Amino acid sequence: MVNNLKFCILIDNTSDKNLLTEHGFSVWIECDGKTILFDTGQNTDNSGILFKNAKALGCDLTTVDTLVLSHGHYDHTGSVSQFLAANPNVNVVCHPNALMKERYSIYPDKAPRLISMPDEDRNLLQSLPPSQMQLLTDAQMLFSGVGYSGAIPRQHPLEDTGGPFFSDKRKREPDTIYDDISLWFETSQGLVILTGCCHSGIMNTVLHIQNVTGKQKIRAVVGGLHLNRASEKRLKATRDAFAKWQPQAIIPCHCTGEHATSYLKQTNPVIFMAGGSGTCIAFGAGRS
Ligand SMILES: [Zn+2]
Ligand SMILES: [Zn+2]
Repeated sequence: MVNNLKFCILIDNTSDKNLLTEHGFSVWIECDGKTILFDTGQNTDNSGILFKNAKALGCDLTTVDTLVLSHGHYDHTGSVSQFLAANPNVNVVCHPNALMKERYSIYPDKAPRLISMPDEDRNLLQSLPPSQMQLLTDAQMLFSGVGYSGAIPRQHPLEDTGGPFFSDKRKREPDTIYDDISLWFETSQGLVILTGCCHSGIMNTVLHIQNVTGKQKIRAVVGGLHLNRASEKRLKATRDAFAKWQPQAIIPCHCTGEHATSYLKQTNPVIFMAGGSGTCIAFGAGRS
């Protein structure tokens, strides 16, 4: 069980706190004395946004114990090498497929766009000693009360990866993005779930975590939900799922999409808060 949990969103697509933004995601996590960094943003134009926003929020990146990568897309991994330069002994955790080299999004009549982790960052991760780099496929606890989902079974018929993703330029091999993982935190008031892009789908993700933990109560869902291209049917099913889970907080970020964000907000106005760079949320033991 986790007693004190705090998230600070270091990087998101938007900010109402006057912090820097980019299409990317990174969250600083304080959890019972441990510090975890979840994703690093994309580091647009080598801007050093991760460090600038962390400094503005008083988060010292050199004190991070563990870096967890939600999946191997550029917008979550683009500051890995800069971060490791500042914190060379940090432990790194991700799914092995996060290191895949060939990953594309391919829209009709457009050239394939490479969206994998930048080479520099991948090469550095591959050079780390095994004692520092954990490639984990399955669900497990990282720390007391802190779980790593591992690959998430795709069970819901309406959920897909959310985009035209392929692992080759000729569109022969769809990229299933099985490296997409989420974290969960076991608190006295239920599970706090943190997603990266949630290419696995939030309903698949929550169901998997409920099955693995045997715990049903959802306290909060924070992170990207990747619903930009979701059908109305999928949006409705997602909204109904949130209504069933009854979390204390829904904080959609990054790739959730404006339409999906306002759709979810309509039916969950009290518990809803849009995330952004600089949004900090504390999940105390006693109350939300
Ligand atoms: Zn992604
Ligand atoms: Zn993303």
